[in-house]
Amino acid sequence: MKVRRKGTNIKSRGKDISHNHGELITLPCKICEDPVNNCTAGTVKVTCWRCVQKIIEPPKAFGQKKSSIVKPRGWKFMKIYVDSEKNVYYKGTEQVDLKGTLEPTVVVPKPKKKKLTPREKEKIEVEKNHLFSEITQLKKELMKIELLPRQRKKIEKEIKQKDKKIKVLSKKK
Ligand SMILES: [Zn+2]
Repeated sequence: MKVRRKGTNIKSRGKDISHNHGELITLPCKICEDPVNNCTAGTVKVTCWRCVQKIIEPPKAFGQKKSSIVKPRGWKFMKIYVDSEKNVYYKGTEQVDLKGTLEPTVVVPKPKKKKLTPREKEKIEVEKNHLFSEITQLKKELMKIELLPRQRKKIEKEIKQKDKKIKVLSKKK
């Protein structure tokens, strides 16, 4: 039985063997142009295993390292987020081409509201009550018929200010 050797003579036959699937030929990788052996005759383009590996799987160790980077809450919803290793994300999707082009995003955590102690709460209540009684007094003043318009305005202004203070105090919790 004759066994055809793969090599230049087969390759040079070109179209003659293009439909003969029993033949194995050598073709240059379409990416790196390294010779790729054992290609089925008729194959037009071939990618060597090294290039295939580069395409299908990014280096494992690198990927795992990335996941260890602590990202702030909601980073996926930020238009642009850059982690501590300068990996750039656009709406949560990594932009490999942009790596290292931007400075890491600085996320300032919102300060937690300090809860008031019972004593502080009591103090606020006392203050509010004081303001309420002051307002009651001022309103009584307003009832007086003999007030001049200018005096009236002054009292009304004072009431407004005290009302505002009460509102501010009421917001504290
Ligand atoms: Zn290749």
